[in-house]
Amino acid sequence: MSLYDTIVIGAGPAGMTAAMYAARSELKVLLLERGAPGGQMNNTAEIENYPGYGKIMGPELAMKMYEPLAELGVEHAYGIVEKVTVNPVGIKKVTTEDGTFESHTVIIATGANHRHLGVPGEERYGARGVSYCAVCDGAFFRNQDILVVGGGDSAIEEALFLTRFGQSVTILHRRDQLRAQKIIQERAFANDKISFIWDSTVEEVLGDEMKITAVRIRNLKTGAITERTFGGMFVYVGLDPMTETVAELGITDEAGWVITDPSTQTTIPGIFAVGDVRQKNLRQITTAVGEGALAGQGVYQYITENV
Ligand code: FAD
Ligand code: NAP
Repeated sequence: MSLYDTIVIGAGPAGMTAAMYAARSELKVLLLERGAPGGQMNNTAEIENYPGYGKIMGPELAMKMYEPLAELGVEHAYGIVEKVTVNPVGIKKVTTEDGTFESHTVIIATGANHRHLGVPGEERYGARGVSYCAVCDGAFFRNQDILVVGGGDSAIEEALFLTRFGQSVTILHRRDQLRAQKIIQERAFANDKISFIWDSTVEEVLGDEMKITAVRIRNLKTGAITERTFGGMFVYVGLDPMTETVAELGITDEAGWVITDPSTQTTIPGIFAVGDVRQKNLRQITTAVGEGALAGQGVYQYITENV
């Protein structure tokens, strides 16, 4: 079995940047990913706050980050990582359903996943009108009335994107103020196709045999329940960390986010964590790539001092 200098788990912007920095230090790098490289960027329509590109589609930026890796010597393998363990001499074992890989260090870059509402009908109408990805599914809702749930950056940005397809887009938020950045809010307020339902939550997703037809809504201030007809519902109510694979290592906080020092190393020497999976305040592509660079460099230092 090959012994790698580092195994990067997850090929989002954080993991790809960490792999690039480690490879540029001539380390032997394996990048494990369970899907297409790009992570959440693949589910993002337009990115306009990544310096140097102006506006760029998420999947395009993902490809631009991925393309140089092979030339740098990064090995990329498909794999759903199930477990990470450390043996008594500090060698890390990364287990996927297809096998086990060994390494001096590990960089956890598994990101975060969209949260579900957990209301009746949501799972039943998954892929039949309920979606968590506007860039993937938006075009299926051409000329329909679309509901977007949430008040953060994702909900408002993706609602704006959905106005390209829907005849109307309604944003439903549990408070009467949005969490999204002001510049994004202003665009939504100025868009004729967008309207708002404030102080409300989804009680139930209703539909027929084939697809969603309506949503039952509760006003949290008055308690009133109403039904509104929608052809599709997009849910953007935040993220949960993807940390089941490292749960047993004892490096996460109560909510599951990985705790690191400023160099991105966890309390286990040689195990680093970068990007959305870290406990932090700002989850962005820019912060993900910055942390990826720190971890790539951190791995090089660890190898120099310990191996
Ligand atoms: P992710 O992008 O989540 O990548 C993690 C990768 O790890 C995934 O590819 C996943 O498949 C893989 N993985 C997870 N578990 C395993 C496992 N067990 N085995 C193998 N692989 C695994 N940020 C901006 O800066 N600008 C924007 O305009 C913007 N728009 C956004 C729009 C939406 C709809 C969303 C959801 C997010 C947006 N963000 C934006 C946030 C940004 O996408 C994230 O902050 C960023 O992608 C985090 O990168 P990451 O590498 O940490 O994690
Ligand atoms: P978020 O910022 O956590 O916002 C989640 C939204 O959903 C909040 O408005 C929240 O309401 C609401 N919510 C949470 N749980 C709910 C529930 N059970 N029922 C109803 N509503 C619920 O999540 P996000 O918008 O997905 O963003 C995730 C991260 O990615 C953030 O760090 C964000 O900045 C980043 N991001 C950045 C960009 C960009 O830079 N352009 C774009 C997208 C995402 P409250 O407001 O009441 O808490």
